[in-house]
Amino acid sequence: MNIFTSMNSFGHEQVLFCRDKNSSLNAIISIHDTTLGPALGGCRIWNYQDHADALHDVLRLSRGMTYKAALAGLPLGGGKSVIIADPKTADKPSLLRALGQHVEYLHGRYITSQDVSVSNSDLCHIRTMTKHVVGLPADKGGTGDPSPHTAMGVLHGIKAAVRHKLNRSDLHGISVAVQGCGNVGKHLCHLLHHEGAKLYISDISVERARQVADECQAETVDKDAIISLDVDVFSPCALGAVISKKSIPKLKAKIVAGGANNQLTDEEGDDLLLREHGILYAPDYIVNAGGLISVSYEVEAIDKTVPIADRLTNIYSTLLEIFSVADTNGAGTGKTANKVAEKRITSYASKMNSAS
Ligand code: NAD
Repeated sequence: MNIFTSMNSFGHEQVLFCRDKNSSLNAIISIHDTTLGPALGGCRIWNYQDHADALHDVLRLSRGMTYKAALAGLPLGGGKSVIIADPKTADKPSLLRALGQHVEYLHGRYITSQDVSVSNSDLCHIRTMTKHVVGLPADKGGTGDPSPHTAMGVLHGIKAAVRHKLNRSDLHGISVAVQGCGNVGKHLCHLLHHEGAKLYISDISVERARQVADECQAETVDKDAIISLDVDVFSPCALGAVISKKSIPKLKAKIVAGGANNQLTDEEGDDLLLREHGILYAPDYIVNAGGLISVSYEVEAIDKTVPIADRLTNIYSTLLEIFSVADTNGAGTGKTANKVAEKRITSYASKMNSAS
């Protein structure tokens, strides 16, 4: 992989390769774009097959964070870090402290947080080395569990998609299949139930699904059957890559809108294929921005006088704008979202240039 060619084509500002002898840290910090503000994005620990895979992942994920922050209306840029190690056997505290030291060297250009294999409480190890970390537990001065905010954002996302596709302004009687009843899925089910939606749910933990079903008058469905249910909305709230060339023909839902990250297996191809099948895709990173919005309230630059609830409501209007632009251009909603994000960043930059 030619690093500068990749950075150039994705538009990255800075990539740092980080080493620490004592902890054997091998990590990459990627800062994609800081036009709107400091680059924020979580740190993941993953056993990458080779360093090129890690680099590709961190470049891709940090660019996604730029788009996510821009469309969430936050004065933040996009960044990400990856630690190359086996999360099952690694000495996480040492690795995270060493990463924290490298984050500190950046003096706030990059703010880290949690991601795959790094929990909120793990972030406390990073916090011993730098203050540029957000998403800490509430009893450690952080904003705590972001899941209820993420779920509320997903609810706004579903409402926007239902408005656009089904021309309905409420969810009463709308059928929703929720895949995954974990932190986000469980809160979402309660919100949807409150709105009068008809719920179908699945989880690989049968017990978890049963409990949520009892609380929300939902019907439990086999985990392999949930994706092909004849419902209005399919809401992936478990794993990524559930939408693919293979699964799209099986989808009977008119809308895909859920909290899971990276739902599309092939970002461009599946985006277009969903449109061709007449299925409205609400881009995952807009729908699940509630988590980022929540942790951003630990960042100094964020205007705390704006209630989180207002920022979550903006997910609704942002999606309506994207659906409408996508229809006008006959383009995928995912590709359209990226373009709208890029436009917001460019117009902010030109406003700043003309003001100076
Ligand atoms: P979680 O681990 O609490 O919940 C995931 C649930 O999905 C678990 O209950 C698990 O048993 C279930 N599951 C796994 N595989 C499944 C399958 N094949 N079929 C059905 N159920 C399955 O995770 P979470 O925090 O709820 O996050 C869910 C998704 O949302 C993830 O993709 C995450 O990256 C994304 N996300 C979460 C937040 C947040 O605030 N927690 C924010 C943004 C994005």
